[in-house]
Parts: sequence; structure tokens; C-alpha cells
Amino acid sequence: MAHLLFLSFLICRLIPIVGLTLHSSDLLPLQLHFHPSTTSSVSTDFGGTTHSTPLAILHPTSPHDIAILIRTSYLSPHPFPISARGHGHSINGQASAPQGVVIDMSRDSVISDLTHDRPLPFYSSSRHEYYVDVWAGELWINVLSWTLANGGLAPKSWTDYLYLSVGGTLSNAGISGQAFHHGPQISNVHELDVVTGKGELVTCSEDQNSELFHAVLGGLGQFGIITRARIALESAPQRVRWIRVLYSNFTAFTRDQEQLISLHSDSKRFDYVEGFVIVNEGLINNWRSSFFSPSNPVKMSSLGGANGGVLYCLEMTKNYNEYNAHSVDQDVEDLLKELDFIPASVFTTDLTYLEFLDRVHKAELKLRAKGLWEVPHPWLNLFVPASRIADFDRGVFRGILGNKTSGPILIYPMNKHKWDDRTSVVTPEEGVFYLVAFLRSALDNSGEPSKTLEHLSRENQEILEFCRKEGLKTRQYLPHHKTQSEWQHHFGRNWDRFQHRKAEFDPKFILGTGQGIFQPSSIPYSSLFFS
Ligand code: FAD
Repeated sequence: MAHLLFLSFLICRLIPIVGLTLHSSDLLPLQLHFHPSTTSSVSTDFGGTTHSTPLAILHPTSPHDIAILIRTSYLSPHPFPISARGHGHSINGQASAPQGVVIDMSRDSVISDLTHDRPLPFYSSSRHEYYVDVWAGELWINVLSWTLANGGLAPKSWTDYLYLSVGGTLSNAGISGQAFHHGPQISNVHELDVVTGKGELVTCSEDQNSELFHAVLGGLGQFGIITRARIALESAPQRVRWIRVLYSNFTAFTRDQEQLISLHSDSKRFDYVEGFVIVNEGLINNWRSSFFSPSNPVKMSSLGGANGGVLYCLEMTKNYNEYNAHSVDQDVEDLLKELDFIPASVFTTDLTYLEFLDRVHKAELKLRAKGLWEVPHPWLNLFVPASRIADFDRGVFRGILGNKTSGPILIYPMNKHKWDDRTSVVTPEEGVFYLVAFLRSALDNSGEPSKTLEHLSRENQEILEFCRKEGLKTRQYLPHHKTQSEWQHHFGRNWDRFQHRKAEFDPKFILGTGQGIFQPSSIPYSSLFFS
């Protein structure tokens, strides 16, 4: 009884705010929360620089709850914004819904039937492959634990960090060092359930409602809320040989990276290829302790100073099982001998597949213990065409950065043919392009001006300006733009398609307003809603 009274109270609050015309009983069953102690929990994100408290949070108990909420908004004369929030690991408020409702997709908040009856992996005889169906708010770490425990299986394509939601990474792309071979995560999902901006729950795939399927993948939450994803699996390897080698010569570094991602034979290639930039020795000393180099201990001081103090680390793994453990040393050696790294700079370690995939979580725990996790993160992620990566090195790593980083800088190439052009994500128009990720933490009280949020944000702008001026034709990954013309430029020749998809699947501009793609002036309800 108390519960019903509480719900009625909530709905009474919602109706005058958003002008609902539906019968209020439609919303009664929904777990909508309005109290500031709850709504404030989603007012910021991992970036830590934006704040926007929604009017309400929905904790869905099923996809139908999401459909009811969106339909309510869609049928209202004053539609209200709705955004899904996976794990809130965006940087610039992308999962927020100013003046609207945030749907908390996390499994922790999801009640009843969704927390039980996790589907088991199953075999598709038509595709000769295993799949698993997962709730889109599920974290990748839980997907992995589940599939490993049920058949020794695992998804094929990853992100470096696993405490991200399936729906959140599929709305962007989902990339890591496996993407050169398997493509991004959006290339490894075969069916989705989606609630569109009209409140319709639709199953889509390559063969069924394919326009919606492709729109939603990399769609930045603009066309529908993914509730279920069918993810392709493979047999999980038992162990991973993890190798790092150093370069002082950028041309040799990128040539080797590009050579490695061109290899396709399963036995004669690495399973994961990434890299990072080291502009000071701190980073090496950080990871040195977790690596060992049995044959060639290296004095780091002997490597410093080359190339203006900038080093490049190439990072690779080779997966293996008990049955082929005898050949892994030889396989790795054969691949390494083709590379042109600094002699004697080979660092190797060996761990389980789960330990390798979950490696960033270890770093997270260390940073949390030091109070360095929940700090502002002015991250910038760029896709850079391979033909201009040397210019980028000259202008940014050895130019703008000036020997200071304040966090890891990842750099690794990917093959464009592993990306499906029909999805909504945009990548450079070249066969090979790099991810360059500036994953920096701001520390305003460290006494070092180069670590402040202001400094790092200004440096990000300088980097973007450099790319623009030099005509590098980069694209932002996990994009953040402030004006519609910037978004238009971001999507380039795909802008028209993006707009058409919006008109078809979310004609009232209800979804994903935190992305700021469709500005208030272009939103039909804005004059009503914001007046
Ligand atoms: P949120 O931030 O909650 O949401 C992101 C966007 O997706 C929002 O627009 C939201 O509305 C929308 N959305 C969320 N769920 C759904 C859904 N079910 N349906 C439709 N739209 C939805 N990315 C990589 O590709 N590779 C990496 O290696 C990588 N490493 C990372 C490491 C860390 C420590 C962090 C913080 C982020 C990393 N990311 C990486 C970025 C990550 O992919 C994005 O932050 C992404 O947004 C996923 O985070 P999330 O699940 O918390 O989604």
C-alpha cells in the first residue's frame, strides 16, 4: 500500500513537469525514482567534469518497462528526454538526460526476472559458432565470467577495461588490441533487441530490421535503447604470453605494428597488438615490476634520451593452451625476429586469459587505493589515418606534449575492412588507421601546472587544432562536440544518413540528449519543453 502511494506521488510529480497525457496507471508499475539522493547518483560520470541531474531514474525490471517509459514520452505533447546509462564511464556527460529520465541499465539496479535466468551460451549450426544472449546493462567482466564458466567460451573482441556495459560499448564501437583481427565489438554482435524512440521493442539483425541494427551499433544512443545483445563467442585460450618491446624510432615502431596487423594466419600472428607512447621514464618503471625479462635484463637509463626522450612500446600477446604450450616460445620468437625494436628490450610475462583481459582492473584498484581514480579525466581519443601518423608524432608526441603526459597514451593500428560501414560509427577513409588515446588524469592540487584540468583541456584543444590545421583528417572516437556544425563535420558524408535514421527511429528527439548531437534549436519539443 505504501509502495502504491509512493508511486502515485512520483507520477503526480512527473505529470506536471513533462505534461504527460497517458493514464497515470501506465507508469505505476515502473520503478521510477525522483528523490535527489537517487537522481544525484547519476549526475556525473567517469570524466568528472560535467554535472546534470535528471528529473528521475528508471530502474527497469524488463525491456517492457523501457518501452512503456519511452512510449509515454513519445505520445506526450511535451516529450521528455531519456538516456540509457550503462556504467557511467563516459567522459562528457554522454549518458545524461538533462530535464529528463535516465534509465539505469546496470544489473545491480535491475530487479526481478532480469537478474535470474541468464541464458546459457548456445551453438548456432548455421554459423558454426557459439553465441550468448546478454542483458545490455551487463558488464563485460560478468559476460566473460559467465561464458568461461559455461563451456570455457569467451567473446572475441574486447575493450582494455571490462567494467563497461555491453550497451555502452556497442553504442560506440568497443576496441582493443584484438580489433585488428576480429574487428571492434560492434562487428561481433549478431542480434539485438532495441526499444526505439517510438517505444517499440524490436528485434534486429543483419537480416531482420537491418537498418535499425546498423544504426544502433556505434549509434551513440541516438536511435534506440539496446536491451539484449547476441554476442559471438570462441573457445577461450587457457594462457597468454604477453610481450612488450621498446622503440626509439617511430617509423620502425609503426612499420612493425602495421606489419603485425597484416598477418592473418592463426598460428603465425599475434592475438593482440597495441602500443603506447612513453614520454618519460615513470611509465616504464610502473609496469616494469609486473614484467620479467629472463634472458635480457635491461637498464632503462641506456634507452633514455633517444629521440628527444620519447620511447614507443609495442605490446603483443600470443594465446595458447596446454596442448600447444610446447610451441609458444618458438612461435613468439619467430614473430619477434621480424621486428626492429631496440635489442634487449624484450619484456615478457605469462598469465591466464582472464588475468590478461582483466589487467586494467588491477591498475584501477591501485589508483583507487591512492585516491587517484575518482579524479577528472579529460580524455581524448582520436582515429588517425595511417598515412598521417608520422605527422601526428612530430606535432603532438614530440611537439605539443613537451615531455609531460599525466597518464597513458595508447597508439595502435586497426584494419578498416574489419569495420562495417553500415554501422553509425565513423572512421578515417583509409585501409589502416590508428587509435591514439590520451587517457589522462587531472590533479589540480599536485602543485604541477601541467597536471591541472585546465592545462590538459587546453592541450586537448591544441591537439585538435593541430590536426585541423595540418589537415590530418582525424575522427574522434567516443566523440564530444559542442555545435551541430562540429557534429556534421564529424559524420562527414554520413551525416545525412545519421539524420535520416534519427527521423525514422527517434523522430521526437527523445533519446541520448546528453550527447548534444541534435541541438535544442533543431528539437521540435524544445520550445515547449524549455519554455
Ligand atoms: P555509458 O557511459 O553509461 O554510456 C555511453 C553512451 O551509450 C551514452 O550515450 C549512453 O546513453 C549510451 N548507452 C548506454 N547503454 C546503452 C544501451 N543499452 N542502449 C543504447 N545506448 C546506451 N572503450 C573502448 O572502446 N576500448 C577501451 O579499451 C576502453 N577502455 C576504457 C577504460 C576506462 C577506464 C573507461 C572509463 C572507459 C573506457 N572505454 C573504452 C570507453 C567506453 O567504451 C565508453 O566509456 C562507453 O561509453 C562505455 O561505458 P558505459 O558502459 O559506462 O556507458
